[in-house]
Amino acid sequence: EKYHAALADNRKLFNEIQELKGNIRVYCRIRPFRPWEDEKSTSVEHIGENGELVLSNPTKKGKEGGKNFTFNKVFGPTTTQDMVFKDIQPLIRSVLDGYNVCIFAYGQTGSGKTYTMMGPENAEEKEWGVNYRALNDLFNISHDRRDTIKYEIGVQMVEIYNEQIRDLLGSGGSQKKLGIQNTSQPNGLAVPDATMCPVNSTSHVIELMQTGHNNRSMSATALNERSSRSHSVVTIHVQGQDLKTGNTLRGALHLVDLAGSERVDRSAVTGDRLKEAQHINKSLAALGDVIFSLSQKNAHVPYRNSKLTQVLQTSLGGHAKTLMFVQVNPDVSSYTETLSTLKFAERVSGVELGVARTNK
Ligand code: ADP
Repeated sequence: EKYHAALADNRKLFNEIQELKGNIRVYCRIRPFRPWEDEKSTSVEHIGENGELVLSNPTKKGKEGGKNFTFNKVFGPTTTQDMVFKDIQPLIRSVLDGYNVCIFAYGQTGSGKTYTMMGPENAEEKEWGVNYRALNDLFNISHDRRDTIKYEIGVQMVEIYNEQIRDLLGSGGSQKKLGIQNTSQPNGLAVPDATMCPVNSTSHVIELMQTGHNNRSMSATALNERSSRSHSVVTIHVQGQDLKTGNTLRGALHLVDLAGSERVDRSAVTGDRLKEAQHINKSLAALGDVIFSLSQKNAHVPYRNSKLTQVLQTSLGGHAKTLMFVQVNPDVSSYTETLSTLKFAERVSGVELGVARTNK
């Protein structure tokens, strides 16, 4: 009881701080065990109803007890794609009102980032990830508003690999390297030379994304390896013209599947893998620094430190809304990585609350 009261206090304080901090939300999602994994070896000790999560290492009980985290929400392993989407739907709708929104998934390889953002390979409709559902909504709402606002929707898809940006929708596919425009203009295109495809239906977009996905894999020997070592950014640009006033509004939705956050053992890798690992670490750290300084309302936000943060600049900070999915692999073998993932998330959410230890 005492423990739950402390968690509730923790939660209240967290909410108060969040209110002050503006538009950064952090949702934690725990993926289910895979059929070949053992459910008994879980590091997830407790999931509260109000965003509390207790992580522990059962193989080291006593030494390594419960560590507490509080996020805006925690989705347990039985949460469906539909339930997750219901929760972020208002955020997506706000793109049609002219907001810039950035949604990204952070976590180690195999923690469910792609599942959340895209869904599994050849997904049935009920398994569709955030990006298909988001597009579906954008098309439906723009259709509903057609008597008052005329919307145009376009999609770009780029990959960031070793600090190089590649167009995934151009005919040159992954071979084309791109530069970045000065993004100081609100709603300015971060990557103006990336192919922008006008779209008018979800099925059209699914086709495009499949093309993009294939382009991503073309130069890879092992798709899964490669895709976890690069960031992919799908950007949906919305432009609406008010039919009465003639005013134009613009919004953008960035959907980001980040490279795996796992630490690569520097002594064990050399050459290309070491270079990849260094680029990934650098860009994820830069993303963390940007979100952290936004959450602290710092005057200087270090967007220029990586290609990733430059591409996302117009959708991070200012009036933009940011949502981070922190993905968790519940298996205890991932305990150390999970802990560092949750610490990253705790830092970027700008709050460090360590009350209510379970084993005290
Ligand atoms: P990542 O993109 O972080 O490397 P994946 O999205 O590929 O991880 O997930 C790893 C595996 O777990 C995949 O087979 C995926 O389909 C499965 N998976 C992940 N999250 C869920 C979930 N919420 N429900 C069912 N299966 C999931």
